[in-house]
Amino acid sequence: MPLIETDAIVLNSLKLGEADKLVTFYSPTLGKIKAVARGARKVKNKYGSSLEPFTHGHLVIYDKKPQVLYRLFQSDIIESFQRVRSDYDKIMTTSHFSLFIEALSPEGDPSVPVFNLFLKLLEYTKVFEASPGLINLFKVKFLGYAGYELLLDRCVKCQSSFPSMRFSPSLGGMVCSPCIPDNALYSVAISPAVQSVLKQTFKMDPGLISRIRPSEEVNKEISHILEVFIFHILGKKFPSLETTSK
Ligand SMILES: [Zn+2]
Repeated sequence: MPLIETDAIVLNSLKLGEADKLVTFYSPTLGKIKAVARGARKVKNKYGSSLEPFTHGHLVIYDKKPQVLYRLFQSDIIESFQRVRSDYDKIMTTSHFSLFIEALSPEGDPSVPVFNLFLKLLEYTKVFEASPGLINLFKVKFLGYAGYELLLDRCVKCQSSFPSMRFSPSLGGMVCSPCIPDNALYSVAISPAVQSVLKQTFKMDPGLISRIRPSEEVNKEISHILEVFIFHILGKKFPSLETTSK
């Protein structure tokens, strides 16, 4: 069985059998992967605290192709992000983003920018509180990396630019009123202020996103746009940060 080495962040882990864990990681070279950690729930185990959520580690895994699950051989902590795990609010915001990455990343579809984005959020959260508004901007940035960058300049159907346009989740961008057919398309209002924040976020280096401080009103609108867009992508509702924190 070939051994593979990769860096990865722990997204979550589940109990498996008597003493094992099934751990979901995000790796820059393998994408979202699931690996079985044998004996990880025994008091004395070789993984120590390296399988705690949000841990950035270096893994050695067995590639068991064609089976879907990998088997974890060794994992070493690069950065534990213990400070994130020791604060309830930090756990809630970071878990929410972690769930978001897990839900929207297909298995085995690696993205270095997505990995770095999560790492940037962890580094930020280690020191500061990430507000719901900032988490929204990280989600927007993720969508850009995942191939869902919104077209915000022109109507996606006729390419014209109108002063007032709506956001259509199914078309993945702005649409002008003449292009909205009477029958089907669900669309939501999108203000110029929100368009500008979204454009800025898609363009900006992830390390600088925290400098964008959207107003409460803008943030509310972004939450709604994300909600309908993610519903369209996943085909089901993704819980809001407020729901996850309760
Ligand atoms: Zn149009």
